Amino acid sequence: ATGGGPAFDLLRKRQGVLDRLRPDLAALTVLSPEPAAGARKLAARRSMRIQVRGTGRVGTVIASVLSAAGVGHVDVRDGGCVEPWDVAPGGLPVESVGERRDTAAYRAVRKAAPDRPPRPDRRSGPPPSQAQPQPQSPSESQALPPAEEPALSLVIIAPRDGLSAHTPDPLAAEELITSGTPHLYAGVVEATGVVGPLVLPGGTACAGCLSLDRTDRDPTWPRLLAQWRSGRQLQVPACDLALATAVAGLTAAHALAFLDGELPSSTGARWEASAPGLDWHARPVWAHPDCSCGAGGRSKGEQTSEGGEQHDTMAG
Ligand SMILES: [Zn+2]
Repeated sequence: ATGGGPAFDLLRKRQGVLDRLRPDLAALTVLSPEPAAGARKLAARRSMRIQVRGTGRVGTVIASVLSAAGVGHVDVRDGGCVEPWDVAPGGLPVESVGERRDTAAYRAVRKAAPDRPPRPDRRSGPPPSQAQPQPQSPSESQALPPAEEPALSLVIIAPRDGLSAHTPDPLAAEELITSGTPHLYAGVVEATGVVGPLVLPGGTACAGCLSLDRTDRDPTWPRLLAQWRSGRQLQVPACDLALATAVAGLTAAHALAFLDGELPSSTGARWEASAPGLDWHARPVWAHPDCSCGAGGRSKGEQTSEGGEQHDTMAG
């Protein structure tokens, strides 16, 4: 009854907050055989900072679920204003239509939180997505987080246009690779939901690896992709609400497993489900020997030499 460390002691004093999180505590306890390890993990979530990029039907629900599960600092980033089709249960409410997306999503996150995070200083300013620009250099993001801000433990990339999750742009993730920030992709593209890969920079396959691997298997892939992108002029991309909700839930669960110190099955792999069959299956995402992220064996700037031994021509 007294375990869990000082951070959990603070939580124990706030009965209402702890009551909100009791099922999550029980779930963590089931998985942690050591005494009070579940309590320690739950308390640790409160000081963690994550960022969700994209606040559509998928991204806002992910952010809200993580906030409700006890993650203390959930930043959201997006541009533009809320459209009627962004509204989703657990995500952006109908009242927010017309508001700035980041402001509205941030409010949804706050509303879902069982508590204010342990550090209240940043509550006075605008949402963190406006107030805090991204860390510019590796040293800043990892070793020296901006004052009063814990370093980002995880970035979740859940673009409203699911194509950017299915076929992530390596350039867009470059800053995360250089800063060593773990990141996880999620989205719905056409009738397919995608969760993963969880990228551990330099350790597991990244967006660049994915793109190089696809080009290896199909040299016309880059042209195909350019065509796909230029052809997509729909204002409202397809996104089944139930599939989006499932993707958001699974993504949040993978994110929490990672934050709690485990390696979920999306590490170096991608879970996909397509309507109407909706059978979830995982596809491995191999680290590419020529990718500058280093996961495939080559360190940054080095010429290709031995190459990745586990690289394989896996179908799909
Ligand atoms: Zn890579």
